[in-house]
Amino acid sequence: MKIVEVNTYLVRPRWGFVEIITDQGYVGWGEGVLEGHADAVQACIQEMKPYLIGQDPSRIEDIWNTIYRAGFYRGGGVLMSAISGIDQALWDIKGKVFSAPVYELMGGKCRDKIKVYSWIGGDRPSDVGAAAKEKMDAGFSAIKMNGTEELQYVDTYEKVDEVLERVAAIRESCGKYFGIAVDFHGRVHKPMVKILAKKLEEFDPLFIEEPVLCEHMELFPEIAACCNVPIATGERMFSRYDFKRLLQIGGVDIIQPDLSHAGGITEVKKIAAMAEAYDVALAPHCPLGPIALSACLQVDATSYNAVFQEQSIGIHYNVGKSVLDYIINKEDFTFKDGYVDMPTKPGLGVEVNKELVIEENKTPHQWKNPVWRHADGSVAEW
Ligand SMILES: [Mg+2]
Repeated sequence: MKIVEVNTYLVRPRWGFVEIITDQGYVGWGEGVLEGHADAVQACIQEMKPYLIGQDPSRIEDIWNTIYRAGFYRGGGVLMSAISGIDQALWDIKGKVFSAPVYELMGGKCRDKIKVYSWIGGDRPSDVGAAAKEKMDAGFSAIKMNGTEELQYVDTYEKVDEVLERVAAIRESCGKYFGIAVDFHGRVHKPMVKILAKKLEEFDPLFIEEPVLCEHMELFPEIAACCNVPIATGERMFSRYDFKRLLQIGGVDIIQPDLSHAGGITEVKKIAAMAEAYDVALAPHCPLGPIALSACLQVDATSYNAVFQEQSIGIHYNVGKSVLDYIINKEDFTFKDGYVDMPTKPGLGVEVNKELVIEENKTPHQWKNPVWRHADGSVAEW
């Protein structure tokens, strides 16, 4: 079997799909996108096409290494997101060839379902108590929200109190044992992170996320030492080599590699196994579409340390289109009691609505995140 076609599509709200077609009629779909840099990733996939056309799609490990190593330069968000999309599509083809879900080809599943959490509150979270209660009533046992708005290196205790008030509102509306994950979104710097983490302790958060940006990963042991709250991070890390350093430094309890940024199924499976050796849990990052979600579930199914799966249904970024719009088998992605079952269909288990994908690609989205500024006019982390 040979790869004969590689197509890329941009679809709302901010995603990019890859379609790989073989001479035997098998078609694989992947999601290769870096939000806000979608055009760059699509161009990168097109650039990798000469390494793909004419190749046997069953040789995933070899193709992965070729597109990772043969271009001399490697790593980073754009290159690794391109590889991720291609890798997912190749696994989709392999599963379809063997008429089995991808996890069956990776040792079989070690769990039947996985806990999912839901996003609430948007970029500037407000009225989160009611929003969390709504999710609890819908069956979820955990939510995630942004903790803060812009936060300066050294900021006011008023802003700290605002974070605590939000978390307290959820505790009050949803009770003592509801899961509250607080995403710091890299908006917090070292001087404020210890204060926030320590004060959040009394609310027993599920975890805090990206307490500082990963370029400051050497701070994680210090943050971990000052609070009894699990620390999660990893959505902006792009290979097992990035995660190697993080795990060696320590202080992190949950890693969140993104299946569409960190090298796809092939690489994240390796990252998950490496984390397991450090007794670190896996919760794949996924504010993306249905193909990325399904790729995550394949890894969750076969990774003993997988604990939660993020998903983007109802997330504030999804304007115009949402996860299930692009798939025909919507019923396979329903959540029950806060869990999602593992996919059962061959390959990644998604039946893509190609007509809609083609239609969306005619007017490609140009999604960019907002540029925030502090009160003094300097640019703020979003
Ligand atoms: Mg995050």
